[in-house]
Amino acid sequence: MTDFHLEIPAQTIRFGPGAVSQLAGAIEQAGWQRVMVCTTPNSRARGHLDAIEAALGQHLAISYEGVEPHVPALQVGDAAALGDRYHVDAVIGLGGGSSIGTAKAVSMTLQSPPVVTTRIPVIAIPTTYAGSEMTPVFGVTQVENGVPRKVTRSDIRVTPRIVIYDPLLTLDLPPRMTAGTGINAVAHCVEALYSVTRNPLASAAASGGLRAMAHALVRCFTQGNDVAARTEMLGGAFLAGTALAHVAMGLHHGICHVLGGTTGVAHGDANSVMLPHVMRFNALTVAPQLAEVAVAMGIAPGARSDTALAEAAVEQVTEWVAQMRLPARLRDLGIEERQLPDLARMAFASRTVQQHPRPIGDVAEIETLLRAAW
Ligand code: NAD
Repeated sequence: MTDFHLEIPAQTIRFGPGAVSQLAGAIEQAGWQRVMVCTTPNSRARGHLDAIEAALGQHLAISYEGVEPHVPALQVGDAAALGDRYHVDAVIGLGGGSSIGTAKAVSMTLQSPPVVTTRIPVIAIPTTYAGSEMTPVFGVTQVENGVPRKVTRSDIRVTPRIVIYDPLLTLDLPPRMTAGTGINAVAHCVEALYSVTRNPLASAAASGGLRAMAHALVRCFTQGNDVAARTEMLGGAFLAGTALAHVAMGLHHGICHVLGGTTGVAHGDANSVMLPHVMRFNALTVAPQLAEVAVAMGIAPGARSDTALAEAAVEQVTEWVAQMRLPARLRDLGIEERQLPDLARMAFASRTVQQHPRPIGDVAEIETLLRAAW
């Protein structure tokens, strides 16, 4: 085992079918009085927001229902102004990574008097498998010179203090979102296992997450209302989020952030297209780690070499993408070939790409990868 450094923030995790019923008790225990909910417009129509507002009772200050994908700065400003006006003392992100990211960005904007260096605490109620609830990271999309660009920050103060995982809230997650955010969670585990800051906690979480998801993801896609499969999958996503929180991600995540922030494609779709390509790009550098990925996915090692197992892991991801009818090419996401050089340049400049286990010395390597995925 090599040296490692971990910072583990205090979080309370409540997991299980019906866990949202514990929300008011958890808030009372924490002593918060005026809570704001940040969520997407379709959350009310699906009944999720009504359920959370009812569970909050007298602690509900206001709901902001304008969350948009990739957290545009404009919406963060609107939500923070609302929170300020209603003197909120905690903020809930209800939904996918965009709702939780908006809640983190609002928390970052609103100080918590009288100690102005503290932040309004965040509570996360995830309804996808994206994993933001376990991390201090959030991205906000800003428009610079007419080009949207997602700027990612990390601040331990916005790591959600309470996370409520209720699989019943995921029963209506549409098949496409189930599949895409599921592959995103798989990608967290893959990049954790070969991360340059790989450590025992993240590796154990990543392997456990892969085991659960290999068992449950396609079942959730084909039978969305299977509570046992949804529970196993959400447990896998929790482990994937835990792995994500404790390692540096690499090339795959760097590229997906640029694709989402700049072209607006859904994060899950970007993940589905890119993951097999990045895994193959890495195969020679981190074959033993990708062999671990394969074994955690349930692939019998037999007498196969690490390189053969790494290829089997890539094939497994490719098969899931095909089985769940996810996009497999960037052109299918509406990305044009002429955009690839700029996207490669932006990805090359990102810190995440620069801390990848296979050193990337030249932007042309990323452009070649994007062309293969196009
Ligand atoms: P999303 O939050 O953008 O949600 C996409 C859509 O799914 C929304 O319209 C939402 O209303 C809908 N939805 C969510 N849950 C639903 C449910 N149960 N039933 C029906 N519809 C539902 O998508 P996402 O993939 O969860 O999150 C992606 C965003 O999160 C990206 O911006 C990504 O960069 C970020 N992210 C951040 C981290 C982190 O650690 N900070 C981790 C993963 C993803």
